[in-house]
Amino acid sequence: MSTNTKKNRSFRDAMATGFLRELLDDHAASDSPPGADLPPRVAHALISDAATARASDIHIEPGENSALIRFRVDGVISDVSKVTLAQARMIINQIKAMANLDPIVTFTPRDAHASYTVGADPLDLRLALVPSHTGEALTIRLLDPRRLQRSIEDLGFDLGELQLLESWIESGAGMFLAAGPTGSGKTTTIYSLLQELKKSDRVIVSLEDPVEYQLDGIVQVQLDQRHHLNYADGIKSMLRLDPDYLMIGEIRDAVSARAAVDAAISGRVLLSTLHSRDAVGALTSLRNWGLLDHEIAEALSVVVGQRLVRRLCTHCRRRRAVSAKERVWLSTAGLPVPEQVSDAEGCDRCSQIGYKGRCGIFELWNLTEPDYEAILRHTDEHAVRRSLMDRKHKSIIANGLDKVVDGITSVAELRRAASGAFLAQSL
Ligand SMILES: [Zn+2]
Repeated sequence: MSTNTKKNRSFRDAMATGFLRELLDDHAASDSPPGADLPPRVAHALISDAATARASDIHIEPGENSALIRFRVDGVISDVSKVTLAQARMIINQIKAMANLDPIVTFTPRDAHASYTVGADPLDLRLALVPSHTGEALTIRLLDPRRLQRSIEDLGFDLGELQLLESWIESGAGMFLAAGPTGSGKTTTIYSLLQELKKSDRVIVSLEDPVEYQLDGIVQVQLDQRHHLNYADGIKSMLRLDPDYLMIGEIRDAVSARAAVDAAISGRVLLSTLHSRDAVGALTSLRNWGLLDHEIAEALSVVVGQRLVRRLCTHCRRRRAVSAKERVWLSTAGLPVPEQVSDAEGCDRCSQIGYKGRCGIFELWNLTEPDYEAILRHTDEHAVRRSLMDRKHKSIIANGLDKVVDGITSVAELRRAASGAFLAQSL
């Protein structure tokens, strides 16, 4: 049996103590025919189980003969339960009712949201319903409004990085970007910085699509394409509020890139996120969106490249000697090989997964004179990266290795997070 299958099975066993399993088992034991009325609490049990498992998403996927219920926890998906197609339909209908959706199955995808509480904990549910040839499939994203209220100290920055971020907040100039692929924690980083900025008496305005969470002390503007409130117009109206800090949810095309750089050049501080492989990759993205080198050099101040790794469960992790395989990979990545690393077997505290929670691994590119000169000379990103490494810049992977040495995460996690990033510490 592969480790993954074993882990999945253990996870399912751990989840079998959940309300959902209990309700389904009760139902199976009763005399009612399969697919007859399920207790109305099934959907509630499912959501409460997911929240207990710290799942970010619930998937209900109908197949030919049965439907699969799966949870995504710390970025990794696991099977939780198999139900009949009739049961799946019933659970989906109960959830539709929570979101005031018509139970009728439509032929177009539908989105909806609902508010929910598990105990005293608030949850925002984002529903995506997609018709498939075997029935309607449902994905529920569970958003904990408190997730984005984490302090910058909790994200995984080391002391030096925190000091740099604090001094940037103090000086407050130019454009700050969080860069990385989808699901790398960019939004959380930006929201944490906003929390920090909120402590000062500065005016902060954000332009988001959509507004994910209401934040006190920040004027949040939502993009509305139907009413022609696009990035360019949105920023114009934001500037009327005379903010010290502007936040744009994401720079994702030429229009938003232009709007962001114009705002930063006009003397505002601008925070945003951007999709790229690493910090220096942001430079190529901005150029590809038609921004000129002198505009980028004038605007860009700090870029944080980032990835998320799972944290080893502190109750069952153990130290061991580094394996031959890990030694080879670390050497290939140009990293020093530590004698000892950690991994975890799985225990009751971590639902037998071995990991609990996630933290960021980062690289902080605080642009200095040599970088600005290189940008103005139209130096390509590879040469900029090489020059940074010559100046002892720490890559995302090197930063991740520190967390491996400290026993916070495993080499396996670092490897997973590293795929697609630039490996070598010295290129
Ligand atoms: Zn554990």
